[in-house]
Amino acid sequence: MSASSSFDQFTYRDGQLHVEDVPLDRIAEEFGTPCFVYSRQALSSALAGFDAPFGSRSHLICYAAKANSNLAILQLFARSGSGFDIVSGGELERVLRAGADPQCVVFSGVGKSADEIKRALAAGILCFNVESHGELLRLSQLAQETGRIAPISLRVNPDVDPKTHPYISTGLKNNKFGVPFEAAIGLYREASRLPRLRIVGIDCHIGSQITEIPPFVDAVRRVLRLVDDLRAAHIELEHFDLGGGLGIRYRDETPPPVSAYVRALLEELRGRPQRILLEPGRALVGNAGVLLTRVEYLKDGTERNFAIVDAAMNDLLRPALYEAWHDILPVQQAGSSPMRRYDIVGPVCESADFLGHERDLSLRRGDLLAVMSAGAYGMAMSSNYNTRPRAAEVLVDAKRTDLIRVRETIDELLAAERLLDR
Ligand SMILES: *Cc1c(COP(=O)(O)O)cnc(C)c1O
Repeated sequence: MSASSSFDQFTYRDGQLHVEDVPLDRIAEEFGTPCFVYSRQALSSALAGFDAPFGSRSHLICYAAKANSNLAILQLFARSGSGFDIVSGGELERVLRAGADPQCVVFSGVGKSADEIKRALAAGILCFNVESHGELLRLSQLAQETGRIAPISLRVNPDVDPKTHPYISTGLKNNKFGVPFEAAIGLYREASRLPRLRIVGIDCHIGSQITEIPPFVDAVRRVLRLVDDLRAAHIELEHFDLGGGLGIRYRDETPPPVSAYVRALLEELRGRPQRILLEPGRALVGNAGVLLTRVEYLKDGTERNFAIVDAAMNDLLRPALYEAWHDILPVQQAGSSPMRRYDIVGPVCESADFLGHERDLSLRRGDLLAVMSAGAYGMAMSSNYNTRPRAAEVLVDAKRTDLIRVRETIDELLAAERLLDR
């Protein structure tokens, strides 16, 4: 099964684009636009696709909550036995409220605050993925103050090039993540002497939207060399966390099937009894969601034609941020208007506010469009720029639709701000 098989849940029936058994125009009618729409079946089968290749081998899939942190989606994954990778105290609160077992939560991130660490210690999480010497000292200090034990892995930086966009590459020497490979042994030794730390594992995460297997294999090999050196130094580990980063198909990428990726990792790990953790984000949710939007205006320019829609860069930032490509499909297939080449743009006052450039579509004002592959880093990266309320989110399960996030109102958006009273 490949990561892109989740497209199966987005199909045309009688010329109408459906999510599972629900036509998207009905969702637009009931919940309005812009609206993120997710397929429960696609989410569940993506998670199963990561679990299955492990067979009976001890493992934990720790969904990277930052990719899409809607409570209902976290709850769905928690109920299916998923763990979580979190990067903030806010995400910790989310996964706990969604019903996660704290013993299935790992905490990554370069800037964990004292308050965030104390909360995670109190909750009793599985592991802190430590990203610096300073964090190691802070953890030991806070564990002593609170009378707890901090379970730790070091996030090592294996310095492999994942050949992805520079903004989402995290395993090279020159970026802020992890500790340098050469420093790791010394830091583990220090950790073993610091009070109230318990070394439980090792961690690496080399980047995102990686569409080939070799960088992952390079990384695991380097990690295993370090594991062997640690063993020689009498430091034994309980788990290896190999991070996330597996890519999905947005356009013409050909990411390996999830099963091939997991099998390639397991091949390297043969004969090692440690539990394996993975931290997939995008590969679990990316192709399980679309952004549903309506055409407000068609505007002919001298060089370009614009379709101005009601979703914008504040709803889906990826095109503006990384020039990312998302497929854009008409909800009603084969309109009667002539095919034209459009730039699909939003109402935000920035030239970077586009969802797609040069798309051939047959459009009329009021038509609905589905921006595909919007399940990961869509809603999660949304903002209120231009004082735009955030979109609604709907989860489809066969014929059922559940509103899993109510559309934000202008009142809510302004509620935290204060006028001066003098
Ligand atoms: C973002 C992130 C992930 C998930 O990355 P994807 O590319 O979405 O799979 C996993 N682990 C860490 C530490 C991350 O920062």
